[in-house]
Amino acid sequence: MANKNLELIPLYEWGMFTEPRPSVIAGPCSAESEEQVMTTAEGLKDLGINVFRAGIWKPRTHPGCFEGIGVPGLKWMQRAKREFGLKIATEVASQKHVFECLKHGVDLVWIGARTTANPFLVQEIADALKDTDIPVLVKNPVNPDLDLWIGALERFNRAGIKKLGVIHRGFSTSEKIKYRNNPEWQIAIELRSRYPELPFFVDPSHMAGSRDYIQEISQRSLDLGFEGLMIESHCDPACALSDSKQQLTPEQLRDLLYNKITVRDADSDNQSWKENIDQLRAKIDIIDENLLYTLASRMKISRQIGEYKRDNNIAIIQANRWDAVLEQVVAKGREAGLPEKFLVTVFNAIHEASVEAQNEIISGHSED
Ligand code: PEP
Ligand code: MN
Repeated sequence: MANKNLELIPLYEWGMFTEPRPSVIAGPCSAESEEQVMTTAEGLKDLGINVFRAGIWKPRTHPGCFEGIGVPGLKWMQRAKREFGLKIATEVASQKHVFECLKHGVDLVWIGARTTANPFLVQEIADALKDTDIPVLVKNPVNPDLDLWIGALERFNRAGIKKLGVIHRGFSTSEKIKYRNNPEWQIAIELRSRYPELPFFVDPSHMAGSRDYIQEISQRSLDLGFEGLMIESHCDPACALSDSKQQLTPEQLRDLLYNKITVRDADSDNQSWKENIDQLRAKIDIIDENLLYTLASRMKISRQIGEYKRDNNIAIIQANRWDAVLEQVVAKGREAGLPEKFLVTVFNAIHEASVEAQNEIISGHSED
């Protein structure tokens, strides 16, 4: 599908985020009590975080869990804003939520992953936000569907929201992985390359599902050049009513931001850096070109095999043959230091394209 342009106001013109990276949104998964909100906000106020977050309405998997405190929580957040000078943010999932946020001085809203997956709700929220100036961050949908994510961005943009950005929090998966949600970084990278100006946050708390992995995900996201982090922080994580395993105390967050992560420059004017990187990029370009030629000659041979199969009436797929090839390739690739998952993905894609090409040859023949 053609890329529609988004009309965007740069992140650092929103009046709440400042360079250098990372821009940080932090606060508890949920607002639970006035004391919890105020204690956490007080712990965060000197950390240089840009925006204080707290969930007011919580989309929980099971009924009967803590489903958010509702409007009273907005009043506690307003108090934190007043007393500690913090900007405040929460998740909205309906028109009613939007109206309450506008009434209570919320500075930024985000769209939760479950909501982004539902265009009816996204449209309803976009309509409610029409003609307001409030920034909106759109989390990725729970399922790994880039178009659905972009569709939500388009809906907000059409409603006149130009202070618009995204939060990558990973995707649901039935695979057993170490994180709660699968990062699928390639989807985030694809979105960034389609919309380089779109402000980009990563949410290591929801991606990790465990505080143990927040640091590595934060570092990865900075290394990829994303400018913001949303991290859950609670004054007493063990007692949190939601997501207790993935929240840091404000002290732990301070340690993470100031001691544990390294911010690398997105680009540099340094001359020798530029020369080095230019040389390395030139080498990559050459290797990519060679890869293309190699793939093309492989495909040529594959077509010849297709013709042979056609002429001798042999089926395209001999499953055992491909299993053996893949096994050999994975073994060799591993020796060469390449990850197995990568090898399997690449070679299955190559195989698929070959089968498709042979299929065309054989079906072309049968129509004769
Ligand atoms: C949240 O940020 O508290 C939340 C519910 O996140 P997500 O929509 O990513 O699950
Ligand atoms: Mn949460």
